[in-house]
Amino acid sequence: MVEVRGVHKSFGPLEVLRGVDLTVRAGEVTVILGPSGSGKSTLLRTINHLEKVDRGWISVDGELIGYRGHRGKLYELKEKEVLRQRTHIGFVFQDFNLFTHLTVLENLVEAPVSVLRRPREAADAAARGLLERVGLSDKADAYPRQLSGGQQQRVAIARALALEPKVLLFDEPTSALDPELVGEVLDVIKDLARTGTTMLVVTHELGFAREVADTVVFMDDGAVVEQGPPGAVLDDPLHPRTRAFLAKVW
Ligand code: ADP
Ligand code: MG
Repeated sequence: MVEVRGVHKSFGPLEVLRGVDLTVRAGEVTVILGPSGSGKSTLLRTINHLEKVDRGWISVDGELIGYRGHRGKLYELKEKEVLRQRTHIGFVFQDFNLFTHLTVLENLVEAPVSVLRRPREAADAAARGLLERVGLSDKADAYPRQLSGGQQQRVAIARALALEPKVLLFDEPTSALDPELVGEVLDVIKDLARTGTTMLVVTHELGFAREVADTVVFMDDGAVVEQGPPGAVLDDPLHPRTRAFLAKVW
């Protein structure tokens, strides 16, 4: 579903991604671990067109994203094509990013109506179904500020699902939450995993990674250092840098 090949990205003199290769298969959950500053967020952002890559290529469901070096040539997708592709790639941010002036239901209905041109009633019905799925049926008419962080993040997940994405990207979805609210958000993500949603999740929650991930990827200094099934990477890491990181996080 997602292929990343030889991706490089620099911000000025700082090379943040140094040739990243990654494959996410349809229906699988890939968890990305790695120290702060290793390029995890930048990698997710390139997959969602929030950053352009300098070299290499990324495809989602067989469609090329952004630039690639092809026989020495770089080419760029048109803005309209970028927007079309982005509707298929859900993104859940650390800090929720809900529309604060809209109710919960309106947050879920906005993009399906304005981007996908869904009829309002159909979008409404779908949104209510999604709210039920994340356990927030009773909050449809609330505003984000009236919700806990955990509830807001569950709304953000429902909002991402409302566009029926091919893949969902999560960037530290529980890092901004009080500890007692982490579980309810992870439970929603686990439920999505059970139903075969393709997901790429950056998180430091190792218990979650062990339970839910099909593949765990360890990134350090802009590159994938090690990847494999959770049992291998978490319990028996090959690379000293993976071992050092896990020793700090456990
Ligand atoms: P992680 O998510 O693993 O903590 P990031 O991808 O956020 O890492 O950042 C990797 C490096 O890139 C960091 O050194 C960060 O400061 C730098 N960086 C990220 N975004 C930008 C930007 N827009 N401009 C300049 N530097 C950036
Ligand atoms: Mg980050």
